[in-house]
Amino acid sequence: LLRMQVVLPDGKRLDLPHNATARDAAAQIGPRLAQDAVAARVNGILHDLLTPLPDGAEIGIITKKQLADVSEVWRHTLAHVMSQAVGEFYAAKGFDPQAVKRGVGPAIENGFYQDFDLPEPLTEADLPEIEKRMQGIIDANLDLSRHEVGREEALRVFGYDPYKVELIQELPEGTPVTFYRQADYVDLCRGPHLPRTGLLPRAFKLTSTSGAYWRGSEKNPMLQRVYGVAFASQAELDEYLRLLEEAKKRDHRRIGKDLELFFTSDVIGPGLPVWLPNGAAIRRELERFIVDLEVQQGYQHVYTPAMAKSELYKISGHWDHYQEDMFPVMKIDQEELVLRPMNCPHHIQVYSHKPHSYRELPIKIAELGTMYRFEQSGQLTGLSRVRSMTLNDAHIFCREDQVQAEFKKVVELIQGVYEVLGFGQYLYRLSLRDPNDKEKYYPDDSMWESAEGQLRDALNDMGLNYYESPGDAAFYGPKLDVQVRSALGKDETISTVQLDFLLPQRFELEYVNEEGGRSRPIMIHRGVISTMERMTAFLIENTAGDFPLWLAPRQVIVVPIADRHVEYAREIEVTLRALGLRAETDDGSERMNAKIRNAELAKIPVMLIVGDQEQEARAVSVRERGKGERKGVPLADISSELETRYRQRQP
Ligand code: ATP
Ligand code: ZN
Ligand code: ZN
Repeated sequence: LLRMQVVLPDGKRLDLPHNATARDAAAQIGPRLAQDAVAARVNGILHDLLTPLPDGAEIGIITKKQLADVSEVWRHTLAHVMSQAVGEFYAAKGFDPQAVKRGVGPAIENGFYQDFDLPEPLTEADLPEIEKRMQGIIDANLDLSRHEVGREEALRVFGYDPYKVELIQELPEGTPVTFYRQADYVDLCRGPHLPRTGLLPRAFKLTSTSGAYWRGSEKNPMLQRVYGVAFASQAELDEYLRLLEEAKKRDHRRIGKDLELFFTSDVIGPGLPVWLPNGAAIRRELERFIVDLEVQQGYQHVYTPAMAKSELYKISGHWDHYQEDMFPVMKIDQEELVLRPMNCPHHIQVYSHKPHSYRELPIKIAELGTMYRFEQSGQLTGLSRVRSMTLNDAHIFCREDQVQAEFKKVVELIQGVYEVLGFGQYLYRLSLRDPNDKEKYYPDDSMWESAEGQLRDALNDMGLNYYESPGDAAFYGPKLDVQVRSALGKDETISTVQLDFLLPQRFELEYVNEEGGRSRPIMIHRGVISTMERMTAFLIENTAGDFPLWLAPRQVIVVPIADRHVEYAREIEVTLRALGLRAETDDGSERMNAKIRNAELAKIPVMLIVGDQEQEARAVSVRERGKGERKGVPLADISSELETRYRQRQP
């Protein structure tokens, strides 16, 4: 009889029969541990209790108390339980059990899913019943068992299911096929799984179903994917569902529609958003804000065309390194033109338009640059990922000894802008190259090391907290990305500062140095408020449409109580408009309360209500979101107050 040994965390050795599992090991240590065990770590890797242990393995038993640490195990087991429940659901309707066919069913972040090919589609209304059956399967505390068989046997078990057959046939000849069983339910699976359904947390919910192509390819049949979320405790599930609700409420596509900010249409094309007057007002404010600030700080704003000869992008290297993200070439007469995916080459042309001396540097060329990127259609979302976009872009051309100072100035500019925008939480990510990726990154080790070192030094000098992320650099150099945390706890890259030694080389940029010779400038690419599209999407989600006064597309509404106050209301509107404020009058026939409610729904931050008393005194009643009401404020006072708050971008 063959025996083997495993090593426990305290160094003790355990003698076990050949092919013993972690469950056998736990049972040998003690009945209590066997009862509480949920999974095991075998040579540092998460295993289930059902898989034979290799001889000499170091093992640690994971118990119920540590269930939260092995979420991928129970989320995956829940996928099987759901899959079983769906089988029962169709069996109860009288379908043959083999009429339910299955794609894959993995654990994912926060939950799990399972793909099905069903005899008739499952509707969202069916989900509660599936959940009930899942609870029943947990109550029944079914044992899971693991089986290893040869290909022939596996094909016999799963012969009815073309998806499983395809997967089995792809396994290399000779590898055993594993499947897991609980009661009558069997699924082809690599595991790991909990040993019994009674150990599963009950804090789960089936959230949605959607179509999903088998193996992600449009050439294959469309399966139905059922999603679930699952947590170790009900409190975590509740919090997650609350955030999900909140996310729906804040979805910028929904708010963008409700507040008439923007739209996309099939006729124009996906990812090509149209900014409606209200959205355009927000964008105009952002553009003025950043352009004014940049001009104050010595940036020189330019306008350059959104297309160019492909030659320009061949020189820059975008042609070789960025082509996947570019729209195809347009050929006309003898020329080849492309829509630009970045503005850098154009700004380089601005720099090299005339000779420069070291005294002029740094030269900072800026533009609200419109560009086009071929984003995958599945990636497009509202305004946050689009195909036509306008970037708050600038390129700083400087001497080597100026790099760190310029880099710091950009970081300070970013910090100042975030303060006005009310971004409190953000992370700095230093994006470095992946030294093994010779395909994407320009192969010049010393250039990369010097550039990465300079950025690191500047960040350390400023005492900023940052984390490093290899493989996220641009093809021409390392960058600092600023990840801003949204109200929903999502991190989004908003600002970026990138160091570039490569493009100056490719375009043979020069300046006349102190000795009268030629030197090569270094380039810093930077975007502070990102693209107008992504920033606006972010602001919508962050504010849930309750924009601060300066950004609100509709800032002030004057509400006359009766018809006889309309003339005075209009006068107020005209006064405010003359000050640059976006003011309007609600002279409709609705009652005052309805008008107030409409203004609230339209997220207009300031309401000025006028009736007899106000008209008499040339005053207004001021109602503001989240604040109380101020009665009898003189018109002259409120206009200058609003003007100041607007100009100073106060809340
Ligand atoms: P991402 O990884 O988000 O696609 P990127 O690294 O390709 O961005 P850059 O080339 O650095 O982006 O572009 C500058 C900025 O433009 C990004 O920081 C991002 O905020 C924004 N941006 C990039 N792609 C899009 C897009 N498709 N739609 C809207 N904004 C975008
Ligand atoms: Zn599985
Ligand atoms: Zn650039």
